[in-house]
Amino acid sequence: MAQTTANSIQRVGVIGGGQLAWMMGPAAQKLGLELVVQTPGERDPAVAIAHSTVLAPVTDVAATASLAAQCDVITFENEFIDREGLQSLADRGTIFRPSLDVLTLVLDKRHQREFFAQTGLPNPRYSWLDGDEQNAELTAKAETIGFPLVIKTRRLGYDGYGTAIVKEASQLGPTWDRFNHTPVLLEEFVPFKQELAIMVARSARGEIAVYPTVETEQVDQICRRVFAPARVSAGVASRMEGIARTLVEALQLVGIVGIECFLTQDDRILINEIAPRTHNSGHYTLNACQTSQFEQQLRAVSDRPLGPTTLTCPQAVMVNLLGLAADETTHHQRLEALKQLPNATLYWYTKGIRPGRKLGHLTQQLSPGDDPTAAAAAIEAIWYSP
Ligand code: ADP
Repeated sequence: MAQTTANSIQRVGVIGGGQLAWMMGPAAQKLGLELVVQTPGERDPAVAIAHSTVLAPVTDVAATASLAAQCDVITFENEFIDREGLQSLADRGTIFRPSLDVLTLVLDKRHQREFFAQTGLPNPRYSWLDGDEQNAELTAKAETIGFPLVIKTRRLGYDGYGTAIVKEASQLGPTWDRFNHTPVLLEEFVPFKQELAIMVARSARGEIAVYPTVETEQVDQICRRVFAPARVSAGVASRMEGIARTLVEALQLVGIVGIECFLTQDDRILINEIAPRTHNSGHYTLNACQTSQFEQQLRAVSDRPLGPTTLTCPQAVMVNLLGLAADETTHHQRLEALKQLPNATLYWYTKGIRPGRKLGHLTQQLSPGDDPTAAAAAIEAIWYSP
């Protein structure tokens, strides 16, 4: 792998072959880039759009060495990689964008929180356990935060797996027992009025492109719907943009990052977590922004100029289509019904159907007078009806 110069990058390696990598396909084609995808299953979504595939788990470092041999740069759709293992490749000249240092930071929720604190970015109150502490220490740390609080596994949590709310001190020990005394983060439960998210990209030249702030709503801790733009004051939107810019500068990010935040009753913004890749809260950009988050990630990591992020419609709603407790025919009948909706685009990831699994999403462009909440409800009435 050689030093990169403008537009010398033609082939991008992607670690992970799920829907996020799959949605990079059309953007890669538009930019004249070839994607080489490392993913374990030959039926994983991105295999269909890949120029070629390295069939191996995302933690298989020998496979990533083979990926590196075929590519000018490597990026990620999945951050749960073998950080230490990949260092040997970086030492030998493999270019990872974002850098492995950024990946290190997000792999452990404690390190994320410490980084936000050092950078002056707003955190909820938090503490952590490494796993070898006694219950007395757990109680002491919990008391510095107060109840209710949230316990989260520091590593490998996603879609709320590895997150528990603890209402009172008596539940602390039993909850930590259920976590098998793994390293955990403790943080205040934030009684938010809204959850907000923002995507921001940065190139190696330091160019920054910030998307509009959006509102996300989770059901059972999994993203269910996204409203773009967020229904917040101009002041809140501008502080979100400030957080986005500060974060990518501090990280010296090359790539794109999704930032999830809580908005408190008194309009304070607290960061929940970040993911240095495309993000579910940015899927709407495919149909509602001048440059999709997938194209932007590829632009950033391949030294192409970043694209404009402005909305192309007054507002939009994105609804996630999770697997239903129903047979395949029911899923397909409902997809047909969704296809009848006006100004809507359906993305179906062709993954195996399992209840609760993210199988697809739908984005609908809305007119100025439309009620986004009602639009989401109409979509969900079709997909999630009993
Ligand atoms: P994961 O990393 O598994 O996606 P998150 O930390 O994003 O988990 O939590 C998932 C959801 O749980 C959040 O979107 C939010 O709705 C809720 N949640 C997480 N942390 C808190 C908190 N400190 N206070 C209130 N709700 C929270």
